[in-house]
Amino acid sequence: MKDLALKNDETAAPRARFELDDRGFDEVPKKYRKFYRRWDGPDDTLAPNEVLCPVCKIVIRSHRELLPGDRVYCMACMSRLTVVRGKAGRLEAVLELG
Ligand SMILES: [Zn+2]
Repeated sequence: MKDLALKNDETAAPRARFELDDRGFDEVPKKYRKFYRRWDGPDDTLAPNEVLCPVCKIVIRSHRELLPGDRVYCMACMSRLTVVRGKAGRLEAVLELG
């Protein structure tokens, strides 16, 4: 199976990389905490490497910039998600079907 993330890249530019810090998200094992943080609500601005889980409203964080077509996993609610470009131009995550 082809790597959807690579195939769906919007640009050929190298992706920005991000250092993740532990934000104290304690609903997953400690080694995974840096990949998640709590969402502060509609005024919370998401970074290019962050996307909101539509199921449990936890912010999923990646070491690299996220692009439409990327697949992410929400460990908090065990949902498999695909990153899409939302109507407002922001990145959103939608549940994978099947
Ligand atoms: Zn979730």
